[in-house]
Amino acid sequence: MTNNKTTHHNGFRVRTIPELTKPQIRRFWNKVEIGKHNDCWNWTASTSFGGYGQFSIQHDNWKASRVAYFLYYGIDPAENMILHSCDNRLCCNPHHLRTGTSKDNTQDAISRGRHVATRTGTVLDQEGREMVKLLYCYDVPKNQIAVIMGISYSTVRNICLHG
Ligand SMILES: [Zn+2]
Repeated sequence: MTNNKTTHHNGFRVRTIPELTKPQIRRFWNKVEIGKHNDCWNWTASTSFGGYGQFSIQHDNWKASRVAYFLYYGIDPAENMILHSCDNRLCCNPHHLRTGTSKDNTQDAISRGRHVATRTGTVLDQEGREMVKLLYCYDVPKNQIAVIMGISYSTVRNICLHG
C-alpha cells in the first residue's frame, strides 16, 4: 500500500477523497434532501459532471454521490464508478449507490437503453433522447446506439450534436 494521494488506473489519474472534517461532513449532508430509507435523497446544491451533484473539498470538486458513498460506507470508490440503482444522478442515498467499473456502467446504460427502446418503438420521447445522450457519454459508438435504440444513425448523430 502507498500513502500517495494519487494512483493511476488505465492511464487515468485516480484521486483519493481526502479525510473530511466534521464541519465538512455536516456541510455535505446539509445539501442533501435526506428522506426515507428507500427514497431518493436529492442533492440540492450545485451540479456539474453532466447533471451530477458537485461538492467541493479544499477547492477540489467531487461528485456528490461519490462523497456520499465514501462517507456512508467509509470506502473510497477510487477507480470504480458510482452507479445509481435509481437512475437519478442527483441522488445521494447510499442505499441507491454501488460501485462498478465503467464497463458495468455502460452495460447498465445499454440494458436501460434497450428497455426504453422497447417501450417507445422508433419514436423517441424525452427519456429516449436522454438515453441516447447518456450512451454517448459512456462512449458507446453511435452506430451501436442506433441499433440499441432502434433508430437511424443520423438521428443518433443529430441528438448527440444538438441535444
Ligand atoms: Zn435514488
